[in-house]
Amino acid sequence: MIRLENVTKVYKTSTRPALENVSVDVGKGEFVFVIGPSGSGKSTFLRLLLREEVPSKGKVYVSNYDVAKLPRRRVPRLRQTIGCVFQDFRLLTNKTVFENVAFALEVIGKPAHTIRKVVPEVLELVGLEGKSDRMPRELSGGEQQRVAIARAFVNRPLMLLADEPTGNLDPDTSQDIMLLLERINRTGTTVVMATHDQSIVDSMRRRVVELDFGRVIRDDARGVYGYDH
Ligand code: ADP
Ligand code: ADP
Repeated sequence: MIRLENVTKVYKTSTRPALENVSVDVGKGEFVFVIGPSGSGKSTFLRLLLREEVPSKGKVYVSNYDVAKLPRRRVPRLRQTIGCVFQDFRLLTNKTVFENVAFALEVIGKPAHTIRKVVPEVLELVGLEGKSDRMPRELSGGEQQRVAIARAFVNRPLMLLADEPTGNLDPDTSQDIMLLLERINRTGTTVVMATHDQSIVDSMRRRVVELDFGRVIRDDARGVYGYDH
């Protein structure tokens, strides 16, 4: 599903690599945490998968795409196979919950009758049935993140990339969001989540890829955040 082969990324404005000789394979349906301190390369890792950046050296494969070689006109098709969730939710503030989720379907040309059917289904999946007509500002942080997850998942992407999705949430709400990501993972969707949330990583016991100064220093099948547990 995802393969990085000896990937090094050096940004133009920087001298030291953001990622250095990183090789990681993620299979279909896996759940992977990418952890490490701020600046260790987690976001760069995710941006390479989306072709928001290209590697300076090495190869990036996502599903069957050689990402760096993909012609520009095919990038939208790559991105349609990937759902994204961020720390700051990134909802459209002037649209309702329903419209935020529907928008993801409208931009890829889905017909109105499909949208009317599919949006309520996914809002139910994330536990927001009954909140369709709310504006994002009327929702709690956890609810806003659920809308963002619904929007990311409504196209049934092959994978979900989450960059610090619990970074703005309290611990209980964070646990609820993790249950939801687990539920999405159980549908067969590959989930890659960048985080520094130690308690979440420790409670989930999933695969952990740890970065430090752009290098993979650990890749454990059922990991915890630190070493001293
Ligand atoms: P993390 O997500 O773990 O905080 P990043 O991937 O954002 O790490 O950053 C890795 C390194 O690359 C950091 O040193 C950061 O300052 C640098 N960096 C990230 N994005 C850019 C960019 N667009 N241009 C230059 N340097 C960047
Ligand atoms: P996060 O770690 O929350 O994902 P970012 O990836 O946006 O945040 O940024 C991580 C680090 O990379 C920060 O230190 C930021 O200042 C630096 N950075 C991001 N974009 C650039 C850029 N265009 N040029 C230089 N540094 C950048």
